[in-house]
Amino acid sequence: MLRPQLPRVDALLPYLRRIDASRVYSNQGPLSLEFERRIAAELRIPPGSFVSAASGTAALEAAILATAGAASPQRPLALIPAFTFIATAAAVERCGYTPYLVDAHPATWAIDAEALQQHPKLDEVGVVVPVAPFGRPLNQQAWRAFRDRTSIPVVFDGAASFDVSSGGDFLGEIPLALSFNATKAFATGEGGGIASTDAECIARVRRASNFGFFQTRECRSESLNGKMSEYHAAVGLAELDGWVEKRAALQSVVTRYRDAAAVEGISEQIVAHPDVSLSYVLFSALHNQEAADVEAALQREAIGSRRWYGFGLHNEPHYRNVEHDDLIVTDSFAARVLGIPLAPDLGERAVARILATIGRARST
Ligand SMILES: *Cc1c(COP(=O)(O)O)cnc(C)c1O
Repeated sequence: MLRPQLPRVDALLPYLRRIDASRVYSNQGPLSLEFERRIAAELRIPPGSFVSAASGTAALEAAILATAGAASPQRPLALIPAFTFIATAAAVERCGYTPYLVDAHPATWAIDAEALQQHPKLDEVGVVVPVAPFGRPLNQQAWRAFRDRTSIPVVFDGAASFDVSSGGDFLGEIPLALSFNATKAFATGEGGGIASTDAECIARVRRASNFGFFQTRECRSESLNGKMSEYHAAVGLAELDGWVEKRAALQSVVTRYRDAAAVEGISEQIVAHPDVSLSYVLFSALHNQEAADVEAALQREAIGSRRWYGFGLHNEPHYRNVEHDDLIVTDSFAARVLGIPLAPDLGERAVARILATIGRARST
Protein backbone atom coordinates (compact mmCIF):
# COMPACT_ATOMS: atom_id res chain seq x y z
CA MET A 1 0.00 0.00 0.00
CA LEU A 2 2.63 2.49 1.07
CA ARG A 3 6.38 1.95 0.89
CA PRO A 4 8.05 4.94 2.50
CA GLN A 5 11.68 5.63 1.73
CA LEU A 6 13.73 7.70 4.15
CA PRO A 7 17.40 8.73 3.92
CA ARG A 8 19.86 5.86 3.77
CA VAL A 9 22.44 5.34 6.44
CA ASP A 10 25.28 6.87 4.37
CA ALA A 11 23.38 10.13 4.20
CA LEU A 12 22.85 10.10 7.97
CA LEU A 13 26.46 9.44 8.98
CA PRO A 14 27.84 12.99 8.74
CA TYR A 15 25.01 14.19 10.99
CA LEU A 16 25.34 11.30 13.45
CA ARG A 17 29.09 12.09 13.73
CA ARG A 18 28.17 15.63 14.70
CA ILE A 19 26.08 14.19 17.54
CA ASP A 20 29.08 12.10 18.69
CA ALA A 21 31.20 15.25 18.70
CA SER A 22 28.74 17.57 20.44
CA ARG A 23 27.41 14.98 22.93
CA VAL A 24 24.08 16.78 22.75
CA TYR A 25 21.27 14.31 22.14
CA SER A 26 18.09 16.31 22.70
CA ASN A 27 16.75 19.52 24.29
CA GLN A 28 17.05 21.90 21.34
CA GLY A 29 20.53 20.84 20.33
CA PRO A 30 22.41 22.14 17.30
CA LEU A 31 20.89 19.69 14.82
CA SER A 32 17.28 20.36 15.76
CA LEU A 33 17.89 24.13 15.66
CA GLU A 34 19.50 23.82 12.21
CA PHE A 35 16.58 21.63 11.11
CA GLU A 36 14.12 24.29 12.30
CA ARG A 37 15.96 27.04 10.39
CA ARG A 38 16.03 24.98 7.20
CA ILE A 39 12.35 24.01 7.47
CA ALA A 40 11.38 27.68 7.95
CA ALA A 41 13.40 28.55 4.84
CA GLU A 42 11.76 25.73 2.88
CA LEU A 43 8.30 26.98 3.96
CA ARG A 44 9.40 30.54 3.12
CA ILE A 45 8.44 31.92 6.53
CA PRO A 46 10.72 34.16 8.65
CA PRO A 47 13.51 32.49 10.66
CA GLY A 48 12.19 31.57 14.11
CA SER A 49 8.70 30.72 12.83
CA PHE A 50 9.06 26.96 13.18
CA VAL A 51 9.48 24.70 16.23
CA SER A 52 10.27 21.00 15.78
CA ALA A 53 8.37 18.32 17.70
CA ALA A 54 8.52 14.62 18.51
CA SER A 55 5.49 13.82 16.34
CA GLY A 56 2.59 15.49 14.57
CA THR A 57 0.37 14.64 17.52
CA ALA A 58 2.81 16.19 20.01
CA ALA A 59 2.96 19.27 17.75
CA LEU A 60 -0.83 19.54 17.89
CA GLU A 61 -0.90 19.20 21.68
CA ALA A 62 1.80 21.84 22.13
CA ALA A 63 0.00 24.23 19.76
CA ILE A 64 -3.32 23.71 21.57
CA LEU A 65 -1.77 24.28 25.02
CA ALA A 66 0.08 27.35 23.70
CA THR A 67 -3.01 29.01 22.20
CA ALA A 68 -6.03 27.75 24.15
CA GLY A 69 -4.55 26.10 27.24
CA ALA A 70 -6.20 23.02 28.66
CA ALA A 71 -9.99 22.67 28.70
CA SER A 72 -11.95 24.57 31.36
CA PRO A 73 -15.31 23.67 32.93
CA GLN A 74 -16.89 26.61 31.06
CA ARG A 75 -15.40 25.59 27.71
CA PRO A 76 -14.95 21.80 27.71
CA LEU A 77 -15.45 21.21 23.97
CA ALA A 78 -13.08 21.11 21.02
CA LEU A 79 -14.71 21.40 17.60
CA ILE A 80 -12.97 19.07 15.18
CA PRO A 81 -13.97 17.44 11.89
CA ALA A 82 -15.25 13.86 11.86
CA PHE A 83 -13.33 13.42 8.59
CA THR A 84 -9.78 13.15 9.93
CA PHE A 85 -7.18 10.80 11.33
CA ILE A 86 -7.52 9.73 15.02
CA ALA A 87 -4.60 11.98 16.04
CA THR A 88 -6.75 15.15 15.88
CA ALA A 89 -9.17 13.75 18.46
CA ALA A 90 -6.41 12.16 20.56
CA ALA A 91 -4.57 15.50 20.81
CA VAL A 92 -7.61 17.50 21.98
CA GLU A 93 -8.44 14.77 24.51
CA ARG A 94 -4.87 14.86 25.90
CA CYS A 95 -5.43 18.59 26.48
CA GLY A 96 -8.58 17.80 28.46
CA TYR A 97 -11.17 18.62 25.78
CA THR A 98 -14.18 16.59 24.78
CA PRO A 99 -14.28 16.31 21.00
CA TYR A 100 -17.41 17.58 19.25
CA LEU A 101 -17.50 16.43 15.62
CA VAL A 102 -18.60 18.66 12.77
CA ASP A 103 -19.15 17.88 9.11
CA ALA A 104 -16.93 18.71 6.15
CA HIS A 105 -17.85 21.12 3.36
CA PRO A 106 -18.41 19.16 0.13
CA ALA A 107 -16.14 21.42 -1.95
CA THR A 108 -13.13 21.66 0.39
CA TRP A 109 -13.50 18.41 2.41
CA ALA A 110 -12.66 20.58 5.44
CA ILE A 111 -14.85 22.20 8.12
CA ASP A 112 -16.10 25.64 7.16
CA ALA A 113 -15.03 28.75 9.10
CA GLU A 114 -17.97 30.85 7.99
CA ALA A 115 -20.71 28.29 8.70
CA LEU A 116 -19.26 27.52 12.14
CA GLN A 117 -19.56 31.14 13.27
CA GLN A 118 -23.26 30.37 13.88
CA HIS A 119 -22.67 27.02 15.58
CA PRO A 120 -25.03 26.56 18.59
CA LYS A 121 -22.26 25.05 20.77
CA LEU A 122 -19.78 27.95 20.46
CA ASP A 123 -20.32 29.13 24.06
CA GLU A 124 -18.91 25.82 25.28
CA VAL A 125 -16.03 25.61 22.80
CA GLY A 126 -12.46 26.23 23.99
CA VAL A 127 -10.59 25.46 20.77
CA VAL A 128 -11.30 24.66 17.12
CA VAL A 129 -8.95 22.36 15.21
CA PRO A 130 -9.67 22.42 11.47
CA VAL A 131 -7.85 19.70 9.51
CA ALA A 132 -6.23 20.11 6.11
CA PRO A 133 -7.77 16.98 4.51
CA PHE A 134 -5.00 14.90 2.90
CA GLY A 135 -2.85 18.01 3.31
CA ARG A 136 -5.12 20.24 1.18
CA PRO A 137 -4.43 23.77 2.51
CA LEU A 138 -6.94 25.58 4.73
CA ASN A 139 -7.93 29.21 4.44
CA GLN A 140 -5.86 31.14 7.01
CA GLN A 141 -7.77 34.37 6.39
CA ALA A 142 -11.23 32.85 6.92
CA TRP A 143 -10.09 31.18 10.14
CA ARG A 144 -8.45 34.36 11.41
CA ALA A 145 -11.81 36.08 10.88
CA PHE A 146 -13.51 33.26 12.81
CA ARG A 147 -11.02 33.56 15.66
CA ASP A 148 -11.25 37.37 15.82
CA ARG A 149 -15.05 37.35 15.77
CA THR A 150 -15.57 34.53 18.29
CA SER A 151 -12.40 34.93 20.42
CA ILE A 152 -12.02 31.13 20.23
CA PRO A 153 -8.44 29.99 19.54
CA VAL A 154 -7.83 28.02 16.34
CA VAL A 155 -5.05 25.49 15.67
CA PHE A 156 -4.59 23.90 12.23
CA ASP A 157 -3.95 20.19 11.92
CA GLY A 158 -2.02 20.38 8.66
CA ALA A 159 -0.18 17.16 9.42
CA ALA A 160 0.24 16.06 5.81
CA SER A 161 0.66 19.48 4.26
CA PHE A 162 4.41 20.22 4.39
CA ASP A 163 4.91 19.68 0.66
CA VAL A 164 1.95 21.86 -0.34
CA SER A 165 2.46 24.67 2.18
CA SER A 166 5.59 26.44 1.00
CA GLY A 167 5.04 30.16 0.59
CA GLY A 168 1.26 29.71 0.65
CA ASP A 169 -1.55 31.69 2.30
CA PHE A 170 -1.96 28.64 4.50
CA LEU A 171 0.95 29.90 6.63
CA GLY A 172 0.36 32.77 9.02
CA GLU A 173 -0.47 33.59 12.60
CA ILE A 174 -2.67 30.58 13.23
CA PRO A 175 -0.31 27.78 14.25
CA LEU A 176 -0.04 24.94 11.76
CA ALA A 177 0.93 21.51 13.13
CA LEU A 178 2.89 19.30 10.71
CA SER A 179 3.72 15.60 10.88
CA PHE A 180 6.95 14.07 9.62
CA ASN A 181 5.81 10.52 10.30
CA ALA A 182 7.25 7.97 7.88
CA THR A 183 3.89 7.81 6.06
CA LYS A 184 4.11 11.48 5.07
CA ALA A 185 5.91 12.63 1.91
CA PHE A 186 8.57 14.49 3.92
CA ALA A 187 9.55 12.31 6.85
CA THR A 188 11.91 11.87 9.78
CA GLY A 189 10.49 8.52 10.99
CA GLU A 190 8.57 10.06 13.85
CA GLY A 191 8.57 13.82 14.04
CA GLY A 192 6.70 17.00 13.39
CA GLY A 193 6.58 20.67 14.17
CA ILE A 194 4.59 23.88 14.43
CA ALA A 195 4.74 26.82 12.03
CA SER A 196 3.40 30.27 12.95
CA THR A 197 4.45 33.77 11.99
CA ASP A 198 3.35 34.99 15.45
CA ALA A 199 6.60 35.11 17.48
CA GLU A 200 4.79 35.08 20.84
CA CYS A 201 2.82 32.03 19.80
CA ILE A 202 6.06 30.28 18.79
CA ALA A 203 7.61 31.12 22.18
CA ARG A 204 4.59 29.66 23.99
CA VAL A 205 4.67 26.55 21.77
CA ARG A 206 8.35 26.03 22.62
CA ARG A 207 7.55 26.35 26.30
CA ALA A 208 4.51 24.04 26.14
CA SER A 209 6.52 21.34 24.35
CA ASN A 210 9.34 21.51 26.93
CA PHE A 211 7.83 21.14 30.42
CA GLY A 212 6.71 24.76 30.58
CA PHE A 213 10.35 25.91 30.65
CA PHE A 214 11.35 28.89 28.63
CA GLN A 215 14.90 30.15 29.08
CA THR A 216 14.71 29.32 32.80
CA ARG A 217 14.03 25.97 34.47
CA GLU A 218 10.90 27.32 36.09
CA CYS A 219 7.69 25.68 34.90
CA ARG A 220 5.31 28.39 33.71
CA SER A 221 2.56 26.62 31.83
CA GLU A 222 0.75 23.35 31.17
CA SER A 223 3.10 21.23 29.15
CA LEU A 224 4.32 17.97 27.72
CA ASN A 225 7.64 16.61 26.55
CA GLY A 226 7.08 17.03 22.82
CA LYS A 227 10.60 17.81 21.69
CA MET A 228 12.39 16.32 18.68
CA SER A 229 15.62 14.45 19.49
CA GLU A 230 18.92 15.17 17.73
CA TYR A 231 18.71 11.73 16.08
CA HIS A 232 15.41 12.56 14.42
CA ALA A 233 16.77 15.98 13.46
CA ALA A 234 19.68 14.14 11.78
CA VAL A 235 17.19 12.20 9.67
CA GLY A 236 15.35 15.44 8.95
CA LEU A 237 18.49 17.23 7.78
CA ALA A 238 19.38 14.32 5.49
CA GLU A 239 15.77 14.25 4.24
CA LEU A 240 16.05 17.98 3.46
CA ASP A 241 19.32 17.31 1.57
CA GLY A 242 17.47 14.85 -0.67
CA TRP A 243 14.09 16.58 -0.69
CA VAL A 244 14.26 18.05 -4.21
CA GLU A 245 14.87 14.57 -5.64
CA LYS A 246 12.32 12.83 -3.41
CA ARG A 247 9.66 15.38 -4.25
CA ALA A 248 10.41 15.01 -7.96
CA ALA A 249 10.20 11.21 -7.65
CA LEU A 250 6.79 11.42 -5.96
CA GLN A 251 5.64 13.91 -8.59
CA SER A 252 6.66 11.45 -11.33
CA VAL A 253 4.58 8.74 -9.66
CA VAL A 254 1.60 11.11 -9.63
CA THR A 255 2.18 11.80 -13.34
CA ARG A 256 2.29 8.03 -13.99
CA TYR A 257 -1.04 7.69 -12.18
CA ARG A 258 -2.59 10.54 -14.17
CA ASP A 259 -1.37 9.09 -17.49
CA ALA A 260 -2.65 5.61 -16.64
CA ALA A 261 -5.97 7.07 -15.39
CA ALA A 262 -6.43 8.77 -18.76
CA VAL A 263 -5.92 5.39 -20.48
CA GLU A 264 -8.57 3.82 -18.22
CA GLY A 265 -10.93 6.78 -18.62
CA ILE A 266 -11.01 7.47 -14.87
CA SER A 267 -9.08 10.73 -14.72
CA GLU A 268 -11.81 12.53 -12.76
CA GLN A 269 -11.70 9.88 -10.06
CA ILE A 270 -8.00 10.15 -9.25
CA VAL A 271 -7.25 12.82 -6.64
CA ALA A 272 -3.56 13.62 -6.24
CA HIS A 273 -0.98 16.41 -6.07
CA PRO A 274 -1.40 19.39 -6.38
CA ASP A 275 -5.01 18.99 -5.07
CA VAL A 276 -3.68 17.06 -2.08
CA SER A 277 -0.26 16.33 -0.56
CA LEU A 278 2.31 14.14 -2.30
CA SER A 279 1.73 11.77 0.63
CA TYR A 280 -1.43 10.45 -1.08
CA VAL A 281 -2.94 9.19 -4.28
CA LEU A 282 -6.70 8.73 -3.86
CA PHE A 283 -9.39 6.98 -5.84
CA SER A 284 -12.77 8.66 -5.40
CA ALA A 285 -15.53 6.15 -6.12
CA LEU A 286 -18.88 7.35 -7.43
CA HIS A 287 -20.80 5.45 -4.77
CA ASN A 288 -20.19 3.12 -1.81
CA GLN A 289 -20.71 -0.04 -3.85
CA GLU A 290 -18.07 1.03 -6.37
CA ALA A 291 -15.63 1.67 -3.52
CA ALA A 292 -16.33 -1.76 -2.04
CA ASP A 293 -15.93 -3.45 -5.47
CA VAL A 294 -12.64 -1.65 -6.14
CA GLU A 295 -11.35 -2.47 -2.67
CA ALA A 296 -12.20 -6.17 -3.13
CA ALA A 297 -10.68 -6.32 -6.63
CA LEU A 298 -7.43 -4.74 -5.42
CA GLN A 299 -7.32 -7.16 -2.52
CA ARG A 300 -7.70 -10.14 -4.89
CA GLU A 301 -4.62 -8.86 -6.76
CA ALA A 302 -2.73 -8.44 -3.45
CA ILE A 303 -2.78 -4.66 -3.94
CA GLY A 304 -3.32 -2.62 -0.80
CA SER A 305 -5.79 0.23 -0.39
CA ARG A 306 -6.75 2.20 2.67
CA ARG A 307 -9.44 4.51 3.98
CA TRP A 308 -6.96 6.86 5.61
CA TYR A 309 -9.61 8.45 7.86
CA GLY A 310 -11.55 5.21 8.42
CA PHE A 311 -15.30 5.75 8.09
CA GLY A 312 -15.02 8.98 10.08
CA LEU A 313 -14.17 9.40 13.77
CA HIS A 314 -17.79 8.75 14.84
CA ASN A 315 -17.43 5.17 13.57
CA GLU A 316 -14.35 4.41 15.69
CA PRO A 317 -15.33 2.38 18.78
CA HIS A 318 -13.73 4.88 21.20
CA TYR A 319 -15.55 7.86 19.67
CA ARG A 320 -18.92 6.20 19.06
CA ASN A 321 -20.66 8.17 21.82
CA VAL A 322 -19.10 11.52 21.06
CA GLU A 323 -21.57 14.31 20.25
CA HIS A 324 -21.70 15.40 16.65
CA ASP A 325 -23.61 17.34 14.02
CA ASP A 326 -25.19 15.63 11.01
CA LEU A 327 -22.25 14.06 9.18
CA ILE A 328 -23.75 13.55 5.73
CA VAL A 329 -20.71 14.75 3.78
CA THR A 330 -18.25 12.86 5.99
CA ASP A 331 -20.26 9.65 5.67
CA SER A 332 -20.25 10.00 1.91
CA PHE A 333 -16.54 10.87 1.50
CA ALA A 334 -15.12 8.50 4.07
CA ALA A 335 -16.77 5.48 2.47
CA ARG A 336 -15.90 6.43 -1.11
CA VAL A 337 -12.34 7.79 -0.95
CA LEU A 338 -9.66 5.10 -1.04
CA GLY A 339 -5.93 5.64 -0.67
CA ILE A 340 -4.10 3.59 -3.32
CA PRO A 341 -0.44 2.48 -3.39
CA LEU A 342 2.33 5.03 -3.31
CA ALA A 343 6.13 4.93 -3.07
CA PRO A 344 8.77 7.27 -4.50
CA ASP A 345 9.95 4.37 -6.70
CA LEU A 346 6.57 3.00 -7.81
CA GLY A 347 7.14 2.13 -11.49
CA GLU A 348 5.03 2.57 -14.59
CA ARG A 349 4.06 -1.11 -14.83
CA ALA A 350 2.89 -1.29 -11.23
CA VAL A 351 0.80 1.86 -11.66
CA ALA A 352 -0.72 0.50 -14.89
CA ARG A 353 -1.63 -2.77 -13.15
CA ILE A 354 -3.23 -0.95 -10.21
CA LEU A 355 -5.33 1.28 -12.44
CA ALA A 356 -6.29 -1.56 -14.79
CA THR A 357 -7.57 -3.47 -11.75
CA ILE A 358 -9.56 -0.44 -10.65
CA GLY A 359 -10.85 0.12 -14.18
CA ARG A 360 -12.11 -3.48 -14.45
CA ALA A 361 -13.74 -3.43 -10.99
CA ARG A 362 -15.47 -0.20 -11.85
CA SER A 363 -17.11 -1.46 -15.01
CA THR A 364 -18.45 -4.70 -13.50
C1 LIG B 1 -0.39 11.95 10.11
C2 LIG B 1 -1.47 12.74 10.73
C3 LIG B 1 -1.42 13.12 12.09
C4 LIG B 1 -0.48 12.50 13.09
O1 LIG B 1 0.82 12.74 12.98
P1 LIG B 1 1.86 11.83 13.78
O2 LIG B 1 3.17 12.42 13.36
O3 LIG B 1 1.67 10.42 13.32
O4 LIG B 1 1.60 12.01 15.24
C5 LIG B 1 -2.37 13.99 12.57
N1 LIG B 1 -3.38 14.43 11.79
C6 LIG B 1 -3.49 14.07 10.50
C7 LIG B 1 -4.61 14.64 9.68
C8 LIG B 1 -2.54 13.19 9.93
O5 LIG B 1 -2.68 12.83 8.65
